[in-house]
Amino acid sequence: CVMSTGSYDYFQFVQQWPPTNCKFRKCSKPRPLQRFTIHGLWPSNYSNPTRPSNCTGLQFEARKVYPQLQSDLKISWPDVESGNDTKFWEDEWNKHGKCSEQTLNQRQYFERSHAMWTSFNITEILKNASIVPHPKKTWSYSDIVAPIKTATERTPLLRCKLDKKTQLLHEVVFCYEYKAKKQIDCNRTAGCGHQPAISFQ
Ligand code: 5GP
Ligand code: 5GP
Repeated sequence: CVMSTGSYDYFQFVQQWPPTNCKFRKCSKPRPLQRFTIHGLWPSNYSNPTRPSNCTGLQFEARKVYPQLQSDLKISWPDVESGNDTKFWEDEWNKHGKCSEQTLNQRQYFERSHAMWTSFNITEILKNASIVPHPKKTWSYSDIVAPIKTATERTPLLRCKLDKKTQLLHEVVFCYEYKAKKQIDCNRTAGCGHQPAISFQ
């Protein structure tokens, strides 16, 4: 891992569809959560696709995730793999959060992430557009983007994992400006391909 002092232009707020994550990685629960949950808040760059990571900065302190914040994050930001939520938050803080310290301290990093998750419910937005997870249904990239774009008034980025003849929707990314306050349009980089069709189940 490259040590750096996080230089970044904007944030990617990444939510994941747990069943897709669990198709590629070991998850302890027999049935993954059927709703979008937080993967992380990642300071990112426009010109350089390699985002800053593992920056020098304050180590994660569990006590800074005070009880109310902890119970919020257990809903919005669970570890969908092993169920060790605090460890997942620690990993994300150490890899990405520490690089955002010009904007957010640790408390703000987790509070802001939870607020971002609360601001729009992707699972509901898709359901209201009749986009409901199903092993036999597929959609185009723009089919899935359109209702999210309408609801948020910003363009999200979709990320997929290739699975035989479909792409499985893995992550929905919202972009935020440097201060992590205002949502902005994402550029379509490193997202799902135009083909094949996208599914999630
Ligand atoms: P990043 O390291 O940039 O935050 O994200 C990549 C890693 O996070 C991947 O290895 C991915 O599998 C992992 N990841 C995604 N969701 C979870 C989760 O719920 N729990 C844990 N422990 N890791 C996760
Ligand atoms: P994964 O979730 O695919 O197992 O892990 C992806 C890793 O690559 C993460 O640690 C993440 O920080 C890093 N990464 C850098 N750029 C990208 C990107 O555009 N998409 C994804 N998914 N990961 C990226």
